[in-house]
Amino acid sequence: MAQPKYEGYCECIPTKLVREKFGDVNVYAQNAKSLLTKATGFIGNYDFTLNPYRGCQYGCSYCYAAAFTPNAQMRQDWGKWVIFKQNAAEILAKELKKWYEKNPQTPPSIYMSSVTDPYQPLESKHQLTRRLLEVMLDMGIDGYPTPTLVIQTRSPIIVRDIDYLQRFKRLRINMSIPTGSELVRKDFEPRSPSIKARLNAISKIKQSIDYFKGFLPKISITITPLLPTLATDEAAFIEKLAIADRIVIQAFHANHSRSLIASTRQEAEEIKQKYSWWYENEKLSYRKFKEKLICRLPGVEIMEGKEGFFYE
Ligand code: SF4
Repeated sequence: MAQPKYEGYCECIPTKLVREKFGDVNVYAQNAKSLLTKATGFIGNYDFTLNPYRGCQYGCSYCYAAAFTPNAQMRQDWGKWVIFKQNAAEILAKELKKWYEKNPQTPPSIYMSSVTDPYQPLESKHQLTRRLLEVMLDMGIDGYPTPTLVIQTRSPIIVRDIDYLQRFKRLRINMSIPTGSELVRKDFEPRSPSIKARLNAISKIKQSIDYFKGFLPKISITITPLLPTLATDEAAFIEKLAIADRIVIQAFHANHSRSLIASTRQEAEEIKQKYSWWYENEKLSYRKFKEKLICRLPGVEIMEGKEGFFYE
């Protein structure tokens, strides 16, 4: 039998091909050795990052996470494979217990996720992220303070977990919406959910949480990287962003030829050519958009870069 393409790509943590495809994405399973990773760099003010999956079905053209894959083939095929960490809940429970033994009164701050989307389509079936939320909340039953959590996603599947989300005292949801134009979204991230579905998800979360039973999360919309929005869509888009309490904008990552450095993929660089009206003077386009956000959304925090990703 032919060896599946990525099976056993890493000798220390073997993967196995699961007998399923999700869309045209090959799914692999792995027993992770650890789950909480010390946060560094851009999100270094958190204690940990948490990635329930490796790889991402959305396969966005500009995704910097492709740079962190173990080999060139996997980088090239970004979006066509996902590895799910089948023992994630068990490992997280152990790691959190270890943390609380040392820091019984101090909850860890966790950024989920830095190199995958925790609510990509596969999550609707495997419910890995849901089980991780459950593990974090269970720490409260043991008398420990629940972790401070930031969830970074572009998926409306997150609404499935409102029952758990409202139990976190310190939760920020970062919904990624890099453009207000569906045409632009389809060029840069054709596999991802529509802009409308993402905004509806945020609206549903805000409307569904019962203030008497739970906590309303902080809501950010992350426009990172800031992609062009067509003039015909701009005013309506900015108006809809008022649903958030924070907007984060950021330009593309610089291009690096070396892996393990966050960078914009070549695929996105090629699509950019179609939007020369924006990219020919990218700095000016960025500045003008930022000014419009500041001017039209007086009640919303407009932040840039690293600080925008902080919990507070
Ligand atoms: S959803 Fe996020 S992690 Fe997934 S491909 Fe897009 S940018 Fe990368």
